Amino acid sequence: MAAVMSLAAEGGIGLARRVSDIEVSLIVRISELAAARKKAGEDIISLGTGEPDFDTPDFVKAAAKTAMDRGETKYTANTGTAELKQAIVAEYARQGVTIAPANVIASAGAKQVLFNAFMATLDPGDEVVIPAPYWTSYVDMVSICGGVPVTVPTRGEDGFVLAPEALERAITPRTKWLLFNSPSNPTGGAYDAGQLRALLPVLARHPHVGLMSDEIYEHLVYDDFAFVSALKALPEMAERVLVVNGVSKSYAMTGWRLGYGVGPRALIDAMAVVQGQATSAPSSISQAAAAAALNGPRDVVAERREDFWRRRDLVVAGLNAVEGLVCDSPRGAFYVFPDCTGLLGRRTPQGTIVETDADLCEYYLEQAGVAVVPGTAFGSPGHFRISYAYAQVALEKALERIAAASAALVKP
Ligand code: PMP
Repeated sequence: MAAVMSLAAEGGIGLARRVSDIEVSLIVRISELAAARKKAGEDIISLGTGEPDFDTPDFVKAAAKTAMDRGETKYTANTGTAELKQAIVAEYARQGVTIAPANVIASAGAKQVLFNAFMATLDPGDEVVIPAPYWTSYVDMVSICGGVPVTVPTRGEDGFVLAPEALERAITPRTKWLLFNSPSNPTGGAYDAGQLRALLPVLARHPHVGLMSDEIYEHLVYDDFAFVSALKALPEMAERVLVVNGVSKSYAMTGWRLGYGVGPRALIDAMAVVQGQATSAPSSISQAAAAAALNGPRDVVAERREDFWRRRDLVVAGLNAVEGLVCDSPRGAFYVFPDCTGLLGRRTPQGTIVETDADLCEYYLEQAGVAVVPGTAFGSPGHFRISYAYAQVALEKALERIAAASAALVKP
């Protein structure tokens, strides 16, 4: 695996340390390698990116067209339209959580919600506890905003859920936030109500620590797993919880760039100050579309969820049939995160030793034409991530190829 690139400038305008220290992510790197091979005419199956393969529902597109025709094409209020905020308030009311429009900010994607929150709360050196495996953007965003990411490992056997003792050990006087994602990118692991409540005694002992809960995959859950928002599970923490959410994943609206944050008013107001100087409100048209999505019928979401569920089962079974791979069946999202340590140390047909998860991913790309992302990118070596938000035929073909390439590795 080629070394990750650095952005450090070679001549020209000197770059600020806050960006020059950030490495181009392994996800981007793998995607670029896969794209270059595809362009060269190779038959590559890329399971690298986390984007639903479905289209935005028609009724949502129709709402956007209506908004344009009505002339809703101007700046809106900085934190979002009253209509969208009302849709978000109603969405939480359905879950039994009472919030007011003043607790809501709409932004250009969940990413901007996170960024606003870090800009609004982190002074240089402030720490953010992030359980690993983590979504790579978290650590980079914290760093760009002057904070210090403090990563804490979780275990596959625990469903990649943070243990309260591990949280206790990670907290210092500089800790501002505990940040996690449930259901999770990259593992699909999710916290049930009991696991959220188990963190409460620790958080209660450390009132300077807030909880940032990224719930963007909330609707993509399987088996009998019941998703519970941190807002619902931890009412005692209402003044210290920021929920990050959006329509990208649940409604296949990644390109519309519409996310939202729900939290205490003083925090939302501070995030609004950041947003007001960065982008102002998100697109008026996307806001109208998101309001329609949240107010609309849920059958599309339910159908798609069932489809993802079938694909999850297919991928988990396919991976567990490969000697050397172990894959738990995760509760949600559209990722699996198999343990590949059983294949490390083996020799490729070309004679090189596969020493790391990154080597294995490079081997899969070269030998099998399948792009997956090494666990190292998510702070958890010895794994790789597959996104199964792809057509079933592509998944079946990819699994066959992974099985054949894995079987071609020779034990030393
Ligand atoms: N959080 C997580 C965990 C994600 O996986 C993603 C998308 N990859 C986002 C946030 C970003 O969502 P958005 O498109 O709304 O910015």
